[in-house]
Amino acid sequence: MSALQKINLFDLDRKAMEALFVELGSKAFHGRNVLKWIHKHGVTDFDAMTDLPKKLRTELEVKAEIRPPEIVFEQPALDGTIKWMLELADGQRIETVYIPEENRSTICVSSQVGCALDCSFCSTAQQGFNRNLTSGEIIGQVWLATRELGRPPTNVVMMGMGEPLANFQPVVTAMDVMQDDLTYMISKARVTLSTSGVVPNLYRLREVSDVSLAVSLHAPTNELRDKLVPINRKYPLEQLIPACREYIKGDKRRKITWEYVMLDGVNDSIGHAKALIRLLEGTPSKLNLIPFNPFPGTDYKTSPPEQVEAFRQKLRKAGIMAITRKTRGDDIDAACGQLVGRVRDRSRRQLRRVQSDRLANG
Ligand code: SAH
Repeated sequence: MSALQKINLFDLDRKAMEALFVELGSKAFHGRNVLKWIHKHGVTDFDAMTDLPKKLRTELEVKAEIRPPEIVFEQPALDGTIKWMLELADGQRIETVYIPEENRSTICVSSQVGCALDCSFCSTAQQGFNRNLTSGEIIGQVWLATRELGRPPTNVVMMGMGEPLANFQPVVTAMDVMQDDLTYMISKARVTLSTSGVVPNLYRLREVSDVSLAVSLHAPTNELRDKLVPINRKYPLEQLIPACREYIKGDKRRKITWEYVMLDGVNDSIGHAKALIRLLEGTPSKLNLIPFNPFPGTDYKTSPPEQVEAFRQKLRKAGIMAITRKTRGDDIDAACGQLVGRVRDRSRRQLRRVQSDRLANG
């Protein structure tokens, strides 16, 4: 880091914050206070941190900054879901989604700009991979949502753009910050990391974190999964399943959530359900069936609801807890696999409409 570059305090978890303040010749507890100011109180101005000595505040002005991502565009959906397009310091754009439900509120957080994994049914894949997010850019999404909503979310899912296990340390650091009782206090059961199966990093994750795990399965055989989720060619099912079992080993209450996108005529037959039952035998599992969310240019089609229901019933009869995930925010392209981090023509039109409505309403 050059002498001129300021440290973005959004990048620091409790330990790093304490270490920074000790390094500055101050006390670790001031570091904890700053963490609390930023995340609990939403303060980004050192002068407002009234319990810090004046001299320390002046020094922080010179050496550090607290820079959240900026909202460039907000799209509310009819069902209350909100999608924010955020701009990062270098002009890159990502998306964050807020999903309100009766008893909880969930923020869906991005971990990368774009994604390198190239799953054939995901629109994020179409834009390719740009770069990893820093831990500050990841926790910054939770910070922003908390400010916008006036309260912290009850749940966070690492299910936005990108593959979280391909950006390991920043994701782990950000997940640590959101669980800290000086910040958002979101319990490990309410933080979910979703991965398409970067097997070595699943083992690493187990060593440093115990958040809930969701795995994008989407197919019961290697032959089919190779096509839908190409990382399967590198880490096939016979490696993925044991890694997942290992992750929850030792805690009888834990289950793996398997995500399974329902693609008409591709992976949604009763034969596929049977193969899935065999594959998951002996693994404590929950299955989330996700109706495919279409996007421009895709040839895939959503399975008919009767087919999804028949598939679900087959699994249930075999004792596998299976639910059909309700599609949220699809009218604003905020649903699973629709996040792209760029303004499409349609949203530009909507932006103009929002702007002209605002003008018309004074
Ligand atoms: N890269 C991680 C995090 C993304 S989570 C992962 O793969 O798990 C988003 C979930 O939505 C994943 O299960 C993904 O496979 C699924 N998804 C992607 N595109 C979709 C689409 N068009 N319709 C429905 N689900 C989709």
